[in-house]
Amino acid sequence: MRVVVVTGSASGIGAAIRERLSGAGCRVIGIDLRAAEVTADLSDAAGRARAVAGARGLAGASLDGLVACAGLGPQVDDGARIVAVNYFGATAILDGLRPLLAKGREPAAVAISSNSATIMPDADGELAAACLAGDEAEACRIARARDGSHGYASSKLALARFVRRNAPGADWAGAGIRLNAVAPGAVQTPLLQEGLDHPQWGPAIRGFPIPLGGFGTAQQIAAAVAFLLGPDASFCCGTVLYADGGSDALLRGDRY
Ligand code: NAD
Repeated sequence: MRVVVVTGSASGIGAAIRERLSGAGCRVIGIDLRAAEVTADLSDAAGRARAVAGARGLAGASLDGLVACAGLGPQVDDGARIVAVNYFGATAILDGLRPLLAKGREPAAVAISSNSATIMPDADGELAAACLAGDEAEACRIARARDGSHGYASSKLALARFVRRNAPGADWAGAGIRLNAVAPGAVQTPLLQEGLDHPQWGPAIRGFPIPLGGFGTAQQIAAAVAFLLGPDASFCCGTVLYADGGSDALLRGDRY
């Protein structure tokens, strides 16, 4: 039985990943603010340490899979909290559980980014750079001065870039661990619903072009994650897999 840790397992995409992996016979160790095997708040260092220690304790000697899915949406007012959870929480879990993954069977990890990372025009700026430099205080300072959508897109760009930079290196590919990312587009979950209900973001989300015709489902993203975690993706390393109904290809076709 493969043992897989999933953060954000209590809701939306994380819950669908949990269901899919459990249905395939995996033992899932969920990490979330509530309703999970490990309850921990990934927005600060103490919560991240508790999450890593709790998952280590439950996993035992090794870990076969890890999905860093927990995250906040762009409609959240506190941009610093978005960055703290979406980038620093995700990378702390990836780094913290990597030694256990190195002892697993055909181990793989997947981070959940977003197509906002490439579609939002100014995501590739000083905030993403501060994240990648590991400077959480500076990243949160910049995020506080901007709206949530900037913190969201910048943190998701930084997370995808973390995957791209680290996946081929000694710590990941060199240790036999495949690290990849999924970049979802608009997916019908409680997070998206909060955005749809927001007076400013709601109309923008509804007007966003999706060539395949509508919002995705959490199950469609879980299928992409299951692929990247499993043996059919055994040659994938540092991949950012868009599962967004074609929005990124539509808006940035030749920027590849
Ligand atoms: P969701 O709100 O349904 O689920 C997010 C989960 O993360 C929740 O269970 C929540 O409790 C958990 N979480 C939030 N803050 C946390 C913290 N500080 N510590 C521990 N857990 C925390 O949202 P979702 O739509 O399923 O989003 C899952 C991931 O997918 C997120 O990273 C999100 O940014 C990303 N994403 C979602 C969409 C979308 O349209 N839904 C699009 C692109 C990317």
